[in-house]
Amino acid sequence: MSSDTDRDHRLAQVLVQFAHTLGTDFSIQKILDHLVLSIVEILPVTGAGVMLMGQRQELHFIAASNDKVMTFEHLQNELGEGPCLEAYRYGLPVAITDLRRDTRFARFSPRAWNQGMAAVFTFPLTLDDNQLGALDLYRDTPGELTEPDLKAAQVLADVAAAYLFNAQARIDASATVARLNHRSLHDQLTGLPNRTLFEELLEQAIARARRSQHVAAVLYADLDGFKAVNDRYGHHVGDQLLSAVAGRLTRALRPGDTAARLSGDEFVVLCEDLHDSSDAESVARRIAAAVSEPFDLTGHRVTVTASVGIAFSGLGQDLPETLLRDADFAMYQAKNNGGGRLQVLDTEARLAADRRDQLELDLQQAMSREQLSLAYQPIVDIRSGDMVAVEALLRWIHPERGVVEPAIVVPSAERTGLIVPLGEWVLRQACRDLQLWQTHGPKIPSIAVNVSAHQVMGPAFAETVRGVLDATGVNPGAVCLEVTETVFLADVPRAVAVMRELKGLGVRLSLDDFGTGYSSPNYLRHFPFDSVKIDRSFTAGVPTDKVTRSIVAAMIDLSHGMDLTVTAEGVENIRELTEITDLGADHAQGFHLSYPLPGDQLAQYVNSS
Ligand code: C2E
Ligand code: MG
Ligand code: MG
Repeated sequence: MSSDTDRDHRLAQVLVQFAHTLGTDFSIQKILDHLVLSIVEILPVTGAGVMLMGQRQELHFIAASNDKVMTFEHLQNELGEGPCLEAYRYGLPVAITDLRRDTRFARFSPRAWNQGMAAVFTFPLTLDDNQLGALDLYRDTPGELTEPDLKAAQVLADVAAAYLFNAQARIDASATVARLNHRSLHDQLTGLPNRTLFEELLEQAIARARRSQHVAAVLYADLDGFKAVNDRYGHHVGDQLLSAVAGRLTRALRPGDTAARLSGDEFVVLCEDLHDSSDAESVARRIAAAVSEPFDLTGHRVTVTASVGIAFSGLGQDLPETLLRDADFAMYQAKNNGGGRLQVLDTEARLAADRRDQLELDLQQAMSREQLSLAYQPIVDIRSGDMVAVEALLRWIHPERGVVEPAIVVPSAERTGLIVPLGEWVLRQACRDLQLWQTHGPKIPSIAVNVSAHQVMGPAFAETVRGVLDATGVNPGAVCLEVTETVFLADVPRAVAVMRELKGLGVRLSLDDFGTGYSSPNYLRHFPFDSVKIDRSFTAGVPTDKVTRSIVAAMIDLSHGMDLTVTAEGVENIRELTEITDLGADHAQGFHLSYPLPGDQLAQYVNSS
């Protein structure tokens, strides 16, 4: 084989080897080492060296085929002068065929010559417009390299540049991934783990606790008064406070405990390997104490406290989310008890809250699953004995629990906002029933429908009522809406405005449970009521209690003075009925007269009375 064919053959082999590195995580240093060692085998040179520069033109990597070449490479770098730097800077090859005669590198060339080098040929490592570094080929005799040798060297330099570029991109990419990973798992403001990472760590801790029969605890800390700090001093100071809290919190931990920030001013701590629940409590106490020391933030001295809830593993299902939720729940208990304190989860309260949550969920489906119905309780004119109206009372037949009382349903619906569609359903159903009775019997003169203050004060209540009246075609005068005194708690002028709107539709208005709440004659004067319903508790007291009797007498007089009809609620026996009749009540309602009945039993009631 001629030396040319031989060289080309080896060149091809080296190129193939390079190609193999593409799919591997061959390090940059390895690529460079490989390059310089291959070159001395392929080309008629004494040594080869390569330098790679970093982004700020600093030396990044260096490789040499032997120690002597390595000293030349370092020498150029120390001197800041030499063919390698030149080729790198200008992106052009440099050839010095006789170092002894060279004047371009006045400091480098004589020293290289003195150490036994005679010629150097340098090729830039360039990819597109990126200057990566340069490759030096040294010979110990002066003279040119042949054209094919130069070409082969240039090919190697180009191919190496491409691979180096690729390797660098891979390194940059994995650094970016690592940075993004860190960012996606940590809170930017405090540098603490975020919820995602915390849940992951918690999951591992729960598994370890299960294996080792140890207990892990989650401490959920929320600052009391953080919002006030934010509002008063601005978010900038709020952020400083959160960072400072994170610092103090971290310092209050035992080695091995992990703190995280979940959101806003909510921090959590994971404590593992607890010997005893009091270990977690002492960590919580240390946190609370650390947080309650004043903070000196730019120009402001700020004091806050922390409410800390504690939940332990080993109870129930032990999922990260349930443990977190339990600790959160305990934190709310701490807040409800005045804040600035610790609270270990009260499992009874937690269970009650769970049942309540479940009921709320079930209630959402109750309407669509047709589990709701109305019972109707007759209201009777005391003197004539005629039925004047029926009051619609909500009934929910829960598939497992049976009948759920309105006293539970209504507050639950109010909490979830479901009261608005639920109340509309009640009104629509009652109006439909009334319309049906008025065309097909039995003879029911009017209906009373309870509406909650949430409904009245909600958006466009009067519009809703108008819509139902129009849709069902009932006579508005045959519909009475019963509201309780809680409407007085809300925005009174607005409540008055809504009630006037309702009056404008022609419906009647009644004040329910009169006497139990906040009514004052003054309110009664402003609200356009047609009637009041004296609460059952008063009716019950009339026969036995003198004071109650005189209160009821005064209530009836007062109401009559304002032209309001008076209904006595909860009449359970003949004595109560006689007494309230004597006191002048107009209407009566109660078990003595009739229990609430399903709509289809009203006919029977009407015929028998
Ligand atoms: P309310 O409007 O004062 O209704 C009268 C309540 O007293 C009814 O209870 C009724 O069953 C009960 N009751 C009637 N007569 C007697 C009696 O002689 N003795 C005794 N011990 N109780 C009697 P219910 O149906 O449990 O309703 C309770 C409350 O729930 C109602 O008090 C009303 O404020 C509310 N409510 C009922 N249905 C609805 C509704 O559809 N919407 C809204 N917002 N509230 C409703
Ligand atoms: Mg009522
Ligand atoms: Mg009542």
